[in-house]
Amino acid sequence: MNTTQLTGLIQTITNLVERRAAPSEITPSLVTLHDLVERLGQAMAEIQEENAKLKSRLNQPQQPTADPKATDTCKYCHQLSGVVTRIEPDPVWKEFGGEIHHYKCSNPKCGQVYERSTKE
Ligand SMILES: [Zn+2]
Repeated sequence: MNTTQLTGLIQTITNLVERRAAPSEITPSLVTLHDLVERLGQAMAEIQEENAKLKSRLNQPQQPTADPKATDTCKYCHQLSGVVTRIEPDPVWKEFGGEIHHYKCSNPKCGQVYERSTKE
């Protein structure tokens, strides 16, 4: 569906009215017009929804803390964007419950991997 279809239909209705066509002749075109406008409205709603999605995606790089799994402040970019990827016992402190937490930074501008000891 496009606007050419719509303006063509309006022209058809205008012609029918101008030559004083019977209402029964005009009605089918008006029904089609109603249907076209309804579909245009739906298409516009879909475009608005898509547009809102794209806008929020564009805004994401300014929100490096967006990853809900991030629990650590990255050693490199200092944002709350470090996500735990692996946990292993700290070879030095394992008797005391020490662990090494491996992180991957979820900040798209950083993305570094690093580790921290819980006994640090
Ligand atoms: Zn980082």
